[in-house]
Amino acid sequence: MSGTEQVLYANVIVDISHEKLDKIFQYRVPDVLRMQIHPGTAVTVPFGNGNRRIQGYVVKLTDRTDYPPEKIKEIQGVCAGQTGVEGKLIALAAWMRDYYGSTMIQALKAVLPVKQKVAQKEQKQIRLLLPEKEAREMLQVLEKKNQKARARLLDALLVIAKQNEKGMAVLSWERAKEQYGVTMPVVRAMEEKGIVKLESMRIYREPLDLMISRSDQKQEEVKMQTGRDFFLNEEQQLAVQTILKEWDQKDKSVYLLHGVTGSGKTEVYMELIDFVRKQGKQAIFLIPEIALTYQMVLRFYQRFGSRVSILHSRMSAGERYDQYEKAKNGEIDIMIGPRSALFTPFSNLGIIIIDEEHEESYKSETVPRYHARETAQRRAEMEGAKLILGSATPSVESYYRAEKGEYCLLEMKRRANRQKLPYVWIGDMRNEMREGNRSILSRYLQEQLGMCLERGDQAMLFLNRRGYAGFVACRSCGTVIGCPHCNVSLSLHKKGTAGEKLVCHYCGYTQPNPRLCPSCTSPFIGSFQVGTQQVVSQVQRMFPKARILRMDADTTRGKDGHHKILETFAKGGADILVGTQMIVKGHDFADVTLVGALAADLSLHMSDYRAAERTFQLLTQAAGRAGRGEKTGSVVIQTYEPDHYSIKAAAAQDYQAFYEEEILYRSLMDYPPVGGMLALHGQGEDESYLQMAMEYLKKYLDVLAKKTQARVIGPADESVSKVADIYRKVIYVRHGRKEVLDQIKERTEQYIEINRGFDKITIQYDRD
Ligand code: ADP
Ligand code: ZN
Ligand code: ZN
Repeated sequence: MSGTEQVLYANVIVDISHEKLDKIFQYRVPDVLRMQIHPGTAVTVPFGNGNRRIQGYVVKLTDRTDYPPEKIKEIQGVCAGQTGVEGKLIALAAWMRDYYGSTMIQALKAVLPVKQKVAQKEQKQIRLLLPEKEAREMLQVLEKKNQKARARLLDALLVIAKQNEKGMAVLSWERAKEQYGVTMPVVRAMEEKGIVKLESMRIYREPLDLMISRSDQKQEEVKMQTGRDFFLNEEQQLAVQTILKEWDQKDKSVYLLHGVTGSGKTEVYMELIDFVRKQGKQAIFLIPEIALTYQMVLRFYQRFGSRVSILHSRMSAGERYDQYEKAKNGEIDIMIGPRSALFTPFSNLGIIIIDEEHEESYKSETVPRYHARETAQRRAEMEGAKLILGSATPSVESYYRAEKGEYCLLEMKRRANRQKLPYVWIGDMRNEMREGNRSILSRYLQEQLGMCLERGDQAMLFLNRRGYAGFVACRSCGTVIGCPHCNVSLSLHKKGTAGEKLVCHYCGYTQPNPRLCPSCTSPFIGSFQVGTQQVVSQVQRMFPKARILRMDADTTRGKDGHHKILETFAKGGADILVGTQMIVKGHDFADVTLVGALAADLSLHMSDYRAAERTFQLLTQAAGRAGRGEKTGSVVIQTYEPDHYSIKAAAAQDYQAFYEEEILYRSLMDYPPVGGMLALHGQGEDESYLQMAMEYLKKYLDVLAKKTQARVIGPADESVSKVADIYRKVIYVRHGRKEVLDQIKERTEQYIEINRGFDKITIQYDRD
C-alpha cells in the first residue's frame, strides 16, 4: 500500500425535513468505515457545538475540501437497518441540484413522493375466532341475555362460515355497521371476550382498475389484442442476447435501441425485464404520458401479472403515493410511467428502460429542469443497473453518444410482423400555389383522401403547429426570414406603435418586417395562420359525407379528453382524424391507410436549434402511423421546402441520412451535442432593471469567455417575454466542451451570490 493514501471526505445532507435548510456539510470518512460509505448511505454525524449527533445522508464522496482539514469532524457511524433506497434517491437529488441548478428542497420534492395523509386506505374486518359448535352455544347465551346486536353479528358470521368452503367467517366492518346495525363498542366487547377479532387490511388502489374505470373499453375487446403467440425474430434475439451477454460488464451500462416503428422493441423490453425479475431485481419502464394507453399496460399485465404497477398524471396524488409504497414494500417489481416514475423507490433496481427516448416530455419544465435520460443514467450508475434507450428516431444527442462509444448501439431495421413500410409522397406546395391551388390540401392529397374514404379506410391529417411563434415565410418560393447570426428563424413581434419587428430569440437581433420577399420579391409573404378548425371546415366542404373528428388543445381539455377522442376514432367512430402533432404519437389504428402532414415544415422554423430534429422526428413518427394493420399505407408530406434534408430523410425513413447532415450543422455552430449550451434565464418585475442586470452579467461572462473561447449571446427576450407581469430574458453560452461550461456556471453562480445587484432578479440555469 502506498503511504500517500488520500483523505476521503463525504458531503452530507442533514435533516431533510427542514424546509429552510439547504446546506451540505463536509465530514471526514474514518478509515474503518471506508468500505461501508457510499452516496446514499445513512450516517450519524456530530452537529453543532455540544455533543449533539444527528442523522444525515452521504450525497457525494470527494478527496478535496474547501475548509481547513483540522476543522472537519468525523462521521461517527453508519445507520444500520435501512433499506438504502431513500438514501440513494437523496443522493440522486443532490446530483440534480448541482447539475441542473436548484435548491436541495426543490430537488428532493421532485425525487421523493409527497407523503399523503389520505394515502392509507384501510379496511376493517371482523373475524370469528370460535369454532362453529362453540359459536352456536355462545349465540344462545347472547340471545338469552337479550344482547341483540351481539347476537345479530354472531349469527351473520355463522351464516358466512357455512357459505365458505373452509368455514372461514370474515365480515367487513362496513357491512356489519350498515346491514346488521352493529356499533364499534359491540365489536370491541366481543373482541374482549375472545369471540371475534377486529383486523385491519391495507387496501391499495389498484392501478389497472384505475385505468379501466376511466376508460370505457370493453374487456373482451382488450383480450383479443393481447397474448403473445410468436417467437422473437432474429433482430430481436440479437438485441436481447447482446445485452444479456454483457450484463456483468460494468463499462457497458447504457444501450441505445434504434428500431423502426413496429420493429418489436416492446417485446425486447419485456424480455429484458423478465430476466431482471428472475434475478430478484426490479425494473422501471418510462414511456411518454401520451403513449401510456390501456393496451400498452395490458401487454405488461398479461406477461407479468400483478407485479406491475403504473403511474400517470390522471391518478390522484394519493393513488400515486400508493404505487410508490407498493414498490418500497416489495409488492411489485415493475413500474411503468412517465418521467416521475424514474424515482420509484425500488431497493434493488436492475434496469431502467426509456421508450421513445427522443420525446420532449422527458425534460422537466419546472425546477429542477432535469432530463429523465441523464438522470436515469445517473441513477443506473449509482445502483449498478442497466439503462436502455429506445426509439425509432433517436435524439441526436443519444445517437451521437452511441457513435462515440459512450452508449452501445443496437439496431432493428425491419417491422416485426412483416408489414411493409408505407409509401411516402412529398407534396411541393410552391407548385400548388403557382398552379392556382390555394386550398390547404394539395391536389394529390385530395385525390388520395377521396380514394381512402371510398375504400372505407380511415385517414389522419395532422397540422404541425410546433413552434408557432410566428415566423415569416414566402408562399411563392418558400424562403423563411432567418437570423444572419444564429441560423434559426426570426419571430414576428407586434410591438405597440413601433410597428412589426422580426426578432431573434437567441441573440436579440432585430429587423423590420419586409413587405416583399427578399429572394423572389413576391408579395405573398407573411406569417402562417392555419388552425385545425379551418382544416376541418375545408375538408368537410370537399367531402360532405365524411365523419371528421378534431383533436387539439381545445378539444382535449379535461382529464380524459384525448383518450376519449382516440378511442372513438379507434372504434371507427369517424373517418378522418384532424389534429395537431398530438395525434401522431404512438397510437396504432389498424384501419388508417392514409396520413397527411399538412404543413410539414412549420416546425422547421421554430427558433430552436433542434427545429430540424423535431421536424424529422414528427414526420417519421407520423409516417409510421400509416398501414399498421394488414393493409399497406401511404403518406403525403406537404411542404414549402421539399429539398430540406429533414423532410427528404423523413420521407425516405432514413435516420442515418438525417443524422449525418444534422450533426454537421451542430458541430459547425457549436450546438449540442457536439458543443454544450448553457442558458441563463433571468426574471424580474422591472424590465429595464432586468435588461441592465443581464447586460452586466453578460460583461462578466464575456471576460470568462475570452479566457475559454466560449460564445456568449444575448441578452435577448425569451420567446414568451413576459408572464404574469414578470419579464424574462436569456443569455446563452456555448462551448465545444461541457466541462468548460460547468466551470463557467460555477463561477457565475459565485459571482451572482456575492453581487447584491442581482438580488432583485432571479437567475435560473438550463442545459442544452
Ligand atoms: P415497437 O415497440 O418497436 O413499435 P412492438 O413491440 O409494439 O413494436 O411490435 C409491433 C407489433 O409487432 C406488435 O403488434 C407486436 O405484437 C408484433 N410483434 C412483435 N414482435 C414480433 C415477432 N417476433 N413476431 C411477430 N410479431 C411480432
Ligand atoms: Zn419568395
Ligand atoms: Zn440570432
